[in-house]
Amino acid sequence: MNLDLVSNVLADEPPYRLQQIWEWTAGGASSYGEMTNLPARTRALLEERVPFSTLELVHEAHAKDGTVKALFHTHDGHPIEAVLMRYRDGRRSVCISSQSGCPLTCTFCATGRMRFRRNLDAWEILDQALHFRRVEPIDHVVFMGMGEPMLNVDAVLAAARRLPDMGVTPRRTTISTVGWLPGLKRFVDEVDEPIRLALSLHAPADALRSELMPVNDRYPLEDVIAECRRYVELRRRKVFVEYVMLAGVNDGPEHARALAVLLDRKVFKVNLIPYNPTGMYDGSPRDAIAAFKAVLDNAHLPATVRLTRGRDIAAACGQLAATA
Ligand code: SAH
Repeated sequence: MNLDLVSNVLADEPPYRLQQIWEWTAGGASSYGEMTNLPARTRALLEERVPFSTLELVHEAHAKDGTVKALFHTHDGHPIEAVLMRYRDGRRSVCISSQSGCPLTCTFCATGRMRFRRNLDAWEILDQALHFRRVEPIDHVVFMGMGEPMLNVDAVLAAARRLPDMGVTPRRTTISTVGWLPGLKRFVDEVDEPIRLALSLHAPADALRSELMPVNDRYPLEDVIAECRRYVELRRRKVFVEYVMLAGVNDGPEHARALAVLLDRKVFKVNLIPYNPTGMYDGSPRDAIAAFKAVLDNAHLPATVRLTRGRDIAAACGQLAATA
């Protein structure tokens, strides 16, 4: 819901109307009709003038593990996807997109092969989470869908700052980045809320990282790591490192050893991600992931292996390409 538009349309109404409308919406209402504390004529006006969502739902896919992937179109026809992940412990996590497509071209990621369309605005970002909030209460949001959040910092932060109204606290909100420094610096300096930061690393040295992620030529490891260090010093929160496990590419014990040297365990926690098929690579076998983790464990660098969700509907990390 575009609240700027609501505010224009309701310019003659008392200012608290906007808050009432947002409260209903953030609480999971699915129409203006449900907002019983608004005068009927206000509801009618809104129905006529402001679409309830900025996004049109085009398709929804349901995975065997309970994961749901939604494909939306923006009003100007650009595709985006968002994913609801349901965990056994009751956790409900929504993965949302910050851009339609992505201008970066990480070799292992399907979104990087889509045409980049544009940045989403804050309302388009929020409407993805609201779509699932109407299905059931949610408690976590990750900015890990399509796009690079740090290329769209203003909209991403504006959206993130409204998530608590939907029941998602800053500590349960994670923004993931390739290490796009201009945006990352702003995040470090400007964000006082304890929003979590995740860094997509994927290689312990520049040559290999540049091969996998061309953006590394622009913002090399040393600079990105230094910025993460600054975040930890300033904000006293660790940075999560994402490391996708590609067989024979970055998954050897020598890579694990180099990673343990590169990453200060007071600054980073590592999340190893089983590779989700996108065509280019083979995923590391289970024992290779275990051996890699054992090296990190020995170095006392905290490491976990990410649970794969929604692979059968191409909803897993790196698989969002808006192909329905
Ligand atoms: N552009 C941001 C936000 C996307 S997060 C970023 O890259 O951090 C999506 C995460 O999934 C990133 O860590 C990305 O590297 C990872 N990923 C991409 N392709 C993947 C694949 N095929 N399998 C597993 N993880 C993948």
